[in-house]
Amino acid sequence: MLISEIVPGVVRVRGEYKSSIGYPSCYMFFGDDEIAIIDTGTLDFPRRELLKTIEKHGYDFQKHVKMIIITHPHPDHIGGLKWLRNKTKAEVAAFEGVEELLKKPSKIFEKNFNVGTFSKLKLKTLNPTFDYEELKGVDVDHPLEQGETLTFGSRRLKVYHTGGHCFGHIVLYDPLREVLFAGDEVLCHPQSPLKFFVDLTGNVKKREHALKVLNKLNPKYLLPAHDEPRIGEQAKIALETAIDAHNIWKETVIDAVKALDKGKLPEIGEYVRKLLNIKWTQGMDVLVNDLTTLAFLKQLEKEGKIEKIKEKKETLWKIKMLT
Ligand SMILES: [Zn+2]
Repeated sequence: MLISEIVPGVVRVRGEYKSSIGYPSCYMFFGDDEIAIIDTGTLDFPRRELLKTIEKHGYDFQKHVKMIIITHPHPDHIGGLKWLRNKTKAEVAAFEGVEELLKKPSKIFEKNFNVGTFSKLKLKTLNPTFDYEELKGVDVDHPLEQGETLTFGSRRLKVYHTGGHCFGHIVLYDPLREVLFAGDEVLCHPQSPLKFFVDLTGNVKKREHALKVLNKLNPKYLLPAHDEPRIGEQAKIALETAIDAHNIWKETVIDAVKALDKGKLPEIGEYVRKLLNIKWTQGMDVLVNDLTTLAFLKQLEKEGKIEKIKEKKETLWKIKMLT
């Protein structure tokens, strides 16, 4: 566990590194005597440390935590949500439209991850972060809108809906201190910028757009949920690298479809994984590789570069021939 103050009033609580999800991190935003908790970690991390940290800073978590903001409804970001809500009685805020998932988080496994019973059990066994039975639902008190500004004392946080990583993904920006809480939209894993994830409800085009917008925003502090904070020039480099990695993925999906002539999703996904030389551990292969590949396939189909065909009731993808 590492607790660090990035800039005065912005505190990061970081868990131990895991090969599956990198560093699980939560942030706290102190605006005078009003506090926002940004994401609530995994099932086994770090809900207690968050409250202890608030007390160490001289605050009363029952009185001063005004809001718990969820960047997106994935199990590694909402593990401690219900517990923290009960302890602090703070309002829960998430992007409008994700209320239903936060109320019944076990639905995430079908709706966002498209995993069946077997994969769900495999995930639960290999990676306790994804124990669908342990995830507890909550009501959202404050549905957030694109462009909305939240106020904590004299500090502000602006909401940007990015929606690339998954539907309803937001990032938060403190314009005064130029701090960007990036969730999982920019640096998703410390091993490689190529290790990012777009789930079934995510959107490649929206991610492309979001990365451009965030790059223009040019934050001084880039604070991701699974990687180390990037400061100054390093923040700029990280954002540019994320855009490059996104484009490399896109080109690699085309290369894989070309090489296979025509292929099913798992074949293309495996080919892409080999070409990019990335490896997912602890059941994450079940989740992330094929879904990210599928997100790119869908976008490339929209752009008229590849097409979907049916053969013996199976869906295959191939390069679209110009006629
Ligand atoms: Zn995450």
